Amino acid sequence: MTTAARFTETRFDEVTVLASTHGGAFPYGNTVVVHGSEATLVLDPSLDVDHDPVGADAVMISHAHEDHIAGLRHFDTAKYAHHDEVGRVRSLQVLLDGYGLTPEERAAVDAQIGDTFALTPGFPEARGVGDGHVFDLGDITATVVHLPGHTRGHCGVLVEPTGFFYIADIDLTRFGPMYGDVGSSVDDYLASIARVREVEARWYGTFHQKGVVEGARVLRERLKAYEGVIHRREERLLEFLDRPRRLDEIVEHRLVYRPHVQMPFVDAVERRTAQLHLERLARHGQTATTDQGTFYRP
Ligand SMILES: [Zn+2]
Repeated sequence: MTTAARFTETRFDEVTVLASTHGGAFPYGNTVVVHGSEATLVLDPSLDVDHDPVGADAVMISHAHEDHIAGLRHFDTAKYAHHDEVGRVRSLQVLLDGYGLTPEERAAVDAQIGDTFALTPGFPEARGVGDGHVFDLGDITATVVHLPGHTRGHCGVLVEPTGFFYIADIDLTRFGPMYGDVGSSVDDYLASIARVREVEARWYGTFHQKGVVEGARVLRERLKAYEGVIHRREERLLEFLDRPRRLDEIVEHRLVYRPHVQMPFVDAVERRTAQLHLERLARHGQTATTDQGTFYRP
């Protein structure tokens, strides 16, 4: 296997993680290669991947965010994503639709994606798969595990009997979970974290930052801290509703990013995150809306 020097390769039995030498923070990430006796599957080819380093037989995309499909154009092979996600792999415009941007934000994000990722207009040949889909690679299998929340069709992939569970953007970072898309859901995210927690594996691989966590005990500690960020954001929102607030005030106050962070998608992520928490709190009777459309604690 030959790869460019921009990776550090780490082997986990039949799985190789191509860790970015840029560090795994956006726009970079860790590409995963699953080597079966009969076939090779690549997961989420990152921006560092400028050619197919392994002669892949298939590529599975965990979800259609630009950092996860950045290297996909270098693969002349079958491409897969979850049914709820594959439309965004097929079309960059559908991918952008999923961000819920204003026309102004959309132009800025489109330009930024163009500059950073040089994405093609899409991969119309990509095929949809569902939860439980099995890639038979010979001596090992790779099973799709639907883990929605980050996006509607976000998936992990469990490699057996190796015991490597790729959990993609349930990335265990201190920054915490991201759920700023039109198809995102806080409740789904919490359910997906609970589902990951139940899977006994030797290794858990994430797309960003550190990459691989060893053992279920360490994973569960990290998941607990990670999930805690969701609850802290909700508490901060409730504190901010010490008087009625408009949505744009909450967006400006920020639940996700620090005040100094300036990127074209920040307001859209803050808006969607705030909306999702407000809907969830309203379901639990903890917030309500005035006739003027402001939010308050009843
Ligand atoms: Zn993502």
